[in-house]
Amino acid sequence: MHEVSIALGMIHELERIARENNAKKITNVKLKIGKMSGIVVDSLTFAFDAVKLENPVVSDAALSVEEVPLVYECNDCSKTFETDNLYFPSCPVCASYKLKIISGEEQHIENVEIEV
Ligand SMILES: [Zn+2]
Repeated sequence: MHEVSIALGMIHELERIARENNAKKITNVKLKIGKMSGIVVDSLTFAFDAVKLENPVVSDAALSVEEVPLVYECNDCSKTFETDNLYFPSCPVCASYKLKIISGEEQHIENVEIEV
C-alpha cells in the first residue's frame, strides 16, 4: 500500500522535528492533502496509526488532515472553479481545456505540536 510508505516518511520527518526541538513527544500533527495528490486520506490515517506505535516519539500523536479541493483557473476567461474531475477537466463557463491548477496538489505537514 502506497500510504504505508508515505506514513513511514512522515514519521521519519516527525522524528527529525522532535530531535531539532528537543521534544519528548509529538502530540498533534496536521496535514494538508490535495485531492490531486493521489493519497487516500483514510488509508493514510490507518497506516499512520499502525506504524506510529513502533515509535515512542510519535506513538501518542493525533493526526488530522485538511483535504484541499482541486481548484483550477481558466486561462481563457479567468474563471476559477472547483472540480472533482482529476483527469480531463474543462472550464464550466467557456469549456476551455487551457487550465492552470490553483490548489489540490498539496501534500505536506502543515503544523506539529510537541511536548518538551
Ligand atoms: Zn473559461
